[in-house]
Amino acid sequence: MGLADIVARIHAEETRVGRAVGSTKLVAVSKLQPDDRVIDVLNQGQRLFGENRVQEAAGKWPEWKETYPDVELHLLGPLQTNKARQAMDLFQAIHSVDRPKLAHTLARLAQELGHCPMLFIQVNTGKEPQKAGVVPSQADAFLADCLAKDLPIAGLMCIPPVDEEPALHFALLAKIAERNGLKELSMGMSDDFETAIAQGATYVRVGSAIFGERG
Ligand SMILES: *Cc1c(COP(=O)(O)O)cnc(C)c1O
Repeated sequence: MGLADIVARIHAEETRVGRAVGSTKLVAVSKLQPDDRVIDVLNQGQRLFGENRVQEAAGKWPEWKETYPDVELHLLGPLQTNKARQAMDLFQAIHSVDRPKLAHTLARLAQELGHCPMLFIQVNTGKEPQKAGVVPSQADAFLADCLAKDLPIAGLMCIPPVDEEPALHFALLAKIAERNGLKELSMGMSDDFETAIAQGATYVRVGSAIFGERG
């Protein structure tokens, strides 16, 4: 538990599978965590953080960014189109691009604002009805649609079903990324980030294993 321990485990797994140490970026997921825990992790030097909700992030990060201006914030949770403008100003990356309407709004705002965060398409690898993301069979077409709109799609993101072997889902995501020439893979959380690294994750999103259980 704790930041140093997770960083050490990431490096150990990179070494074990023959990847360059430091090739996996750690997104520290600070959603719903008490302020003092987040500040503690900031003071230990972590600068890349993930949040699930625009509103929650907007309520706490602008102030912390004054003290730690080099903080990078990533949005991990579903994005409503009416929050897209605020999200594009607050976040340096959005991991949850999951539908044509959102892609359309992001493209329009990118034109208007003259900037756009790094984007990931969320793939619903387990085809779970309650989960966001495009199903695997539609991923290539949705990506092509996003690229036609000039959206800066860097890679893919997934959240495997809780009751299935995550390695199969990570391997599927890696395969879709590879056949489409996408470099970045956002996959792996507290319980499975080492498995994700072995399957090629470039971003792991770890919350409770760093900060403790959420309140
Ligand atoms: C909450 C969350 C995480 C982190 O989950 P932990 O199990 O606490 O590591 C990662 N990704 C997404 C999309 C999340 O919502």
